[in-house]
Amino acid sequence: MNRAGQIRVEGTVQGVGFRPFVYRLAHQHRLTGWTRNDTRGVDIFIQGAEKDTAAFLEELKSTAPPLARITRLISDEVAPDSTITDFQILESACGEAPMVDIARDTSICFQCLEEMNNPADRRFGHPFINCTNCGPRYTIIQKLPYDRPGTTMADFEMCAACRKEYEDPSTRRFHAQPVSCPDCGPQLSLGEGLDDPLETTIAALRAGKIVAVKGLGGFHLCCCADNEEAVQQLRCRKGREARPFALMVRDAKTASQFAEVSPKEAELLESIERPIVVVQALEKKRCAPSVAPGVNTLGIMLPYTPLHALLFSRGGFDALVMTSGNVSGLPLCKDNNEAMGLLKGMADVFLLHDRAIQTRLDDSIVRVLGGEPVLLRRARGYVPAPLPAPFDVDGLVALGGIMKSTVCVGRGQTAYVSQYIGTLENIETLEHMEATLNHLMEVLGVDPMTYVLDRHPGGFQNYLLPKGGLNEPVRIQHHHAHAAACLAENEVREPTLCFVFDGLGLGDDGTLWGGEILMSDLCGSRRLGHLELLDLPGGDAATRYPGRIAYAALSGLVSNADLNRVLYWLSSNDRKPLPNQPRTSSIGRLFDAVSALLNVCHEQTYEGQAAMELEAIVDPNVTGHYEVEPVKEDGLWLLPGKALLIQIFQALENGEERSAIAAKFHRTLARWIAAVARQESATRVGLSGGCFQNRLLFEWTRSALEEQGVEVLVHRRLSPGDECISYGQLITAGARRANRKNKEMNACV
Ligand code: ZN
Ligand code: ZN
Ligand code: FE
Repeated sequence: MNRAGQIRVEGTVQGVGFRPFVYRLAHQHRLTGWTRNDTRGVDIFIQGAEKDTAAFLEELKSTAPPLARITRLISDEVAPDSTITDFQILESACGEAPMVDIARDTSICFQCLEEMNNPADRRFGHPFINCTNCGPRYTIIQKLPYDRPGTTMADFEMCAACRKEYEDPSTRRFHAQPVSCPDCGPQLSLGEGLDDPLETTIAALRAGKIVAVKGLGGFHLCCCADNEEAVQQLRCRKGREARPFALMVRDAKTASQFAEVSPKEAELLESIERPIVVVQALEKKRCAPSVAPGVNTLGIMLPYTPLHALLFSRGGFDALVMTSGNVSGLPLCKDNNEAMGLLKGMADVFLLHDRAIQTRLDDSIVRVLGGEPVLLRRARGYVPAPLPAPFDVDGLVALGGIMKSTVCVGRGQTAYVSQYIGTLENIETLEHMEATLNHLMEVLGVDPMTYVLDRHPGGFQNYLLPKGGLNEPVRIQHHHAHAAACLAENEVREPTLCFVFDGLGLGDDGTLWGGEILMSDLCGSRRLGHLELLDLPGGDAATRYPGRIAYAALSGLVSNADLNRVLYWLSSNDRKPLPNQPRTSSIGRLFDAVSALLNVCHEQTYEGQAAMELEAIVDPNVTGHYEVEPVKEDGLWLLPGKALLIQIFQALENGEERSAIAAKFHRTLARWIAAVARQESATRVGLSGGCFQNRLLFEWTRSALEEQGVEVLVHRRLSPGDECISYGQLITAGARRANRKNKEMNACV
């Protein structure tokens, strides 16, 4: 007996080989009908014997292609159509607003790698090989539906052989939009116009030169990782004093010659997202010392494009430094001309190609904390995967914070957080944000209704607000946004005790917050307490020279002679009059002060340096802590930062090991959180803020809380740092809007 069904599939189902999979499945079960992409997902019509249609439906869910993610599947029984006698893949249907999720960029797959390395294959050595299971996606998509004309591959006309594969549902490249071969695909070239770009690049790298390499989401600056002179040269030309460089390493096995790589970390290294994984460096570093000075970790990634794979296999390298190809503080270069101009003084050789990059995407950074991956930077490979919203967030557009900014666009009950954009301190980054936002709204088919911003009035983002015609923008406080993002990611709506340990952000009372104890739900937060205020002598200068914070905190509390002896590095240059003295409750600044006090870091040349270098000297076997407890004053918890600094100062005077002091400092903070949670009778605690990128603080806090039976909510899909702000802003604006609607409805009843 014949049955027919109409099936809708939504989620990440375009550009991931879904229709060929449907085609093969239909053939396997002797069904007739059709399938096509539309702007909402994939539409399927099938007909055949009852047991065959049932089996088809079952396997549609259970055996979907590896990159597909089905969020919704609706099937309805309909009347059979006797005019259909075979199974076909139909043209995409356009027209309505796009509702499909956009696929992410993924690393080269095993089969493509084998073909590329096989001299008998027609794509032997083709640096742009890909298939339905791998290759560029978000970086080349210009508009939906995801078809070749909507990508930056539109200009490359397929040769007959490629077209045959593209049109044949039995091949691995059926409707693989970026399909190409050496005859019809993009080509490598050199900035200087020399022959044989790949060989020239390899020779230059071997000779200690610096090469700008065009990648998937932008350029890298690249040099040999074991050549100290080359690495120093790169630091010098980039003006990057100490911030660690990432390495690209041949494979996971080679990575374990550089670092302690756990099975979980190896899995992340080899995942299709191919992030930079921050791992514990081996004691005796195999790479040049200047790769990652002052820290005991290394950021390692594996080759992820066919071009990277070729560089390693042809060049025989074990490890290359691969750092973002940008001018310090500016966005990553993505276009050939842009790179040739801006990186002119930095690179000796330019390895270019003519496939345009639509969307600028940095490498993502992941660190395994407490056995689970935590994103430190979310970009290539992870974007634009959707995040949940517990209510309608349609038309809300959140513009994030100022540092480590992202934007977030709401559609229906789903939030789309952009890639890491950067710190909004120049017009170029603002333009990058604008382009990212416009592109995201375009491909999602979202018309902005309400913009959501940080409460900070001086935000650069104000320039992105349209003039008139829309709802009033909504402003959300920074640390509440952190808490809301953490709760929403964990799908928790109940009021929850949250600790937001962070850098500086403007608080409700006009002072600089950053060590906040909040009672938060998705609508708002109540401040239950904070870190005791620290002076920031000279404002920003105190962040750069953290000794100033320690000095200001301790002077008057310990003898000045002792203080001068310990803080001897506070050079005369840095003791100029200190007119501007803002105060802050930021835990990040407490880390800085301790780092300076322990003679670890006196000048920060990149954000988080003092804390990262402090973490690096900790002896994790030291289990003690300092006897200073949080106190409640006028109903407000106070985390006694100054008393802690005094104890650390005295430990130093008593000749205690710095590695032990640093360990006890971290453990004391973890105890503070556990103590407040206990006295507030919390059963669930949220942790957010950049300080929780610190492995020891994260792990020790979590275990201290779990030991007392507290459920700990942490970020899993976004970074705990300021990249999560846009999502928290959007969720809060959505929650308030939903509340208002509910009230209005109740009023009507
Ligand atoms: Zn492939
Ligand atoms: Zn071709
Ligand atoms: Fe923050």
